[in-house]
Amino acid sequence: MLTGGEGELTVTVRMRVSPEPEGGQALLDLMRRYRDALNYSIRAVIASRALSLTKAHRLLYNDLRERYGLPSRAALDCYREAIAIARSWLKNPKRGAVPTAKGLSVWLTHELGYRVKGDHVELAGGYRLRVIGYDRRYDDFPSREARLVFRDGRFDLYVFKRVPRPAKYAPKGALAVDINERQIVVGNSSVEQRMETPVERALHCRRLAEGLQVKYSSSRYRAWHRRSGVRRRVRYFHRKARNIIEDWARKTAHIIVSLAKQGQLAVAREDLTGLVESLRRLPKGHRTALIMLGYRRLAFWVDWQAEKGGVPLFVVDPAGTSTTCPRCGAELVEVGHRRLRCPRCGLEGDRDTIAILNIEGRALSKMGGTLTSPTAPQMTDVNPNRWGEPSAL
Ligand SMILES: [Zn+2]
Repeated sequence: MLTGGEGELTVTVRMRVSPEPEGGQALLDLMRRYRDALNYSIRAVIASRALSLTKAHRLLYNDLRERYGLPSRAALDCYREAIAIARSWLKNPKRGAVPTAKGLSVWLTHELGYRVKGDHVELAGGYRLRVIGYDRRYDDFPSREARLVFRDGRFDLYVFKRVPRPAKYAPKGALAVDINERQIVVGNSSVEQRMETPVERALHCRRLAEGLQVKYSSSRYRAWHRRSGVRRRVRYFHRKARNIIEDWARKTAHIIVSLAKQGQLAVAREDLTGLVESLRRLPKGHRTALIMLGYRRLAFWVDWQAEKGGVPLFVVDPAGTSTTCPRCGAELVEVGHRRLRCPRCGLEGDRDTIAILNIEGRALSKMGGTLTSPTAPQMTDVNPNRWGEPSAL
């Protein structure tokens, strides 16, 4: 999603589409043939290292047309996609088994593979879909390639567009984001807001799925696996858990980035690498997995929304953000449940507040500013009359 040149962003616009009633089955058939053809092409391209369009064309075009019955344009898009998948797989030093496409998803070249005409989309080969709805904010920007996806009984067309990267303002300060197991804390030395994470709700869905799996399984054979109804419900609960996390991450990121924009602040978040490492040491299970997923998705959406909204972003070193004093840098001591005190300067605070101040401080020092903590002496030393009353006149 964050690809594109220096001055551009690639955004994806999702269009809800629906095939004409009589064309739905034919389109699904095409998508199934495309998937099978794609899997065949990936293996062929890898086996003979046919990584150029010319080589892949010579190797695959006739097969894709005749054996898989793909329209000419779909055949070209199919081996083009296979090359892209093969390239990234070959580049990965830790590659596992050859990748396989499982869902129904078709790659479409703009103009040649698909065309949006008013309230219809036309695919090469004569397939027509009605556009039900989409985000019109990017209408003025030219469309590029697209992907048609069939999932959960509906069709979506994801259209890629290049839009100019918005200019970033010069921040007046930083808005720090601290994430811990139970909540997200957003703030700086003058404001603080706490938000719940949806981990418990998502965990509930996972447990429901697990309950079904246990109920319908036996040690000798996985009977639940054979009952498609049960299997569908298990999948449903797993997917629901993921959707809860994803929705929350997107909405929370939006709140954070909007707050920063309102105050013309930069967003400061911790580098997640260390956090993910420390989570690896927790007992493995759904809970840890969901927390990790939540962190990653929140970071992804914060970065993306900041980029899209022209909000400056700083990723700071997370080492010791909740154990060192934000005012003097001394090691803090624990004085109660999640309360810390500085033995050197006496600053005392809640663990999350301390973390926020440290993250803010690190971002400000990256910006070249300095942190003014709420109790810093210069704040109380200022004579209020100095600014308030022009007594000299
Ligand atoms: Zn201190």
